[in-house]
Amino acid sequence: MKYLCSICGKEHEEWPAIAWTSPTSYNELTDVEKNTCGELSEDYCIIRYPDQTDYFIRAVLIQDVTDNCQNLDYGVWVSLSEKSFEDYRQRHNTHEDREATYFGYLNTIPPEYDFINGIKTNVVVSNGINRPEVIPHQSDQDQIPFIQDYFNGITTQEALNRIKQFDSK
Ligand SMILES: [Zn+2]
Repeated sequence: MKYLCSICGKEHEEWPAIAWTSPTSYNELTDVEKNTCGELSEDYCIIRYPDQTDYFIRAVLIQDVTDNCQNLDYGVWVSLSEKSFEDYRQRHNTHEDREATYFGYLNTIPPEYDFINGIKTNVVVSNGINRPEVIPHQSDQDQIPFIQDYFNGITTQEALNRIKQFDSK
């Protein structure tokens, strides 16, 4: 799909979002576990382990691309506390005032990086957008390559490689 760019005034080919339909923690369950303790929809996921229950929502992470007008959009999953999860679900379902920020752990990492459980983020819900935006915390995580790239940006070549890699799966 082409669109007229509001930044440079030229026409660009719109990049597809790279999106995952379930959290990594869910993908790691066996088929039996998915059926017995997993609950998955487009926007929510709940996993009921014997000793704890984990709550996930689908969100968007925007990767800055330094030498391009476009950014690379990722459809990722974050885990929230039960309280935040219920609060988000209520706002999401009732379409009432949706401005909110939650603390969450990133549960999806692009395959170009090693998966690390426990990357801390803010999950920002704004009125008028479909899915909340995930913004990783910087300070204590700045040795993690994924966090470095998030804040420093990636190149167009790297973005195109990632889209190509993802398409071929
Ligand atoms: Zn442009």
